[in-house]
Amino acid sequence: MDIQAAVTEAAGGDFRIETVRIDAPGPDQLLVRIVACGVCHTDMVMRDGALPVPFPAVFGHEGAGVVEAVGPGVSGLAPGDHVLLSFDSCGACPACHDHQPGYCPEFFPRNFLGALAPAQGGLWRGPERVGSNIFGQSAFATHALAHPRNVVKVDTDLPLHLLAPLGCGIQTGAGTVLETLKVGAGDTIAIFGAGAVGLAAVMAAGIAGAGRIALLDRHAHRLALGRELGATDIATSLEALSGPFDHIVDTTGVPALLGPAVDLLAARGTLALVGAYPSDPKLTVEASAIMSLGRRIVGVVEGGIDPQRFLPELIEHYRAGWLPMEKLVRTYPFAEIGRAVADSESGAVIKPVLLMEPGA
Ligand SMILES: [Zn+2]
Ligand SMILES: [Zn+2]
Repeated sequence: MDIQAAVTEAAGGDFRIETVRIDAPGPDQLLVRIVACGVCHTDMVMRDGALPVPFPAVFGHEGAGVVEAVGPGVSGLAPGDHVLLSFDSCGACPACHDHQPGYCPEFFPRNFLGALAPAQGGLWRGPERVGSNIFGQSAFATHALAHPRNVVKVDTDLPLHLLAPLGCGIQTGAGTVLETLKVGAGDTIAIFGAGAVGLAAVMAAGIAGAGRIALLDRHAHRLALGRELGATDIATSLEALSGPFDHIVDTTGVPALLGPAVDLLAARGTLALVGAYPSDPKLTVEASAIMSLGRRIVGVVEGGIDPQRFLPELIEHYRAGWLPMEKLVRTYPFAEIGRAVADSESGAVIKPVLLMEPGA
């Protein structure tokens, strides 16, 4: 079947919409008509070649849509089901059994390399294979092949264009707060970065009943939104933040913030590393400042959650009004993917979401 997909030709290239051919779903695959897909920072990291993705490639990993067909042996999902797409995992390793699929040993090949099993379908441009199955989806397209483990069925009354980002950016921020850090009522928390992940952490801190919720960012308009979403203190520089904090969540990926962050931790406080960090410079921290106060530093992938369990929880929070996604999302027709990416990179828009339907 011919579909429209945004193909990135090579590292540093742009997202160009082209006609490509998609295979029928193979074993452990299902074909999803994509209704909406969020733009996530990791799409730009992959576009820029910082990860060894298979160019030419189709990115997009916050897809949401409607199941059109299921492959051989797939049960529990059927054509017509509305689904949110998330990251993929193996389902068989100790991490997956512990509902921690972000730490699956197959996370890297399944999500960044789009590895396909024999007889599974992909994307083609004439005789040439196009890199697909990124995050088990490649959803910057009108259709994608996903897997039972990375789709979550949702009620048909839910707005897919608002909930698509739950499958990566929102679950990452909210999962870090609610599942990894287990923030408790009255706890103090600082969140570095007021992008989608940071603002999801702010909203989740509100859900958890945190006392002080401090938010650090360079952009005044993002801090204003953060305050609207529950931040109690806002700051444009690290110097303006006064600790101590029981929890700190770094979503910026800026190594220079991490040493000072340790000093802002309370005794037994935890610093969660959630950003996309460069491999250089290395993180330099004073070991005694961690040891003597029982502080912890923890890495977090995708919030440390299992999408199958956590996305339904987030949807309940959305229904209860705790996750006003409409304040974060701006929608764009698929044809305007270039503008959506530019608005994300400039910080002008917190969460661009592409609408794939013609005429949207
Ligand atoms: Zn696994
Ligand atoms: Zn993402």
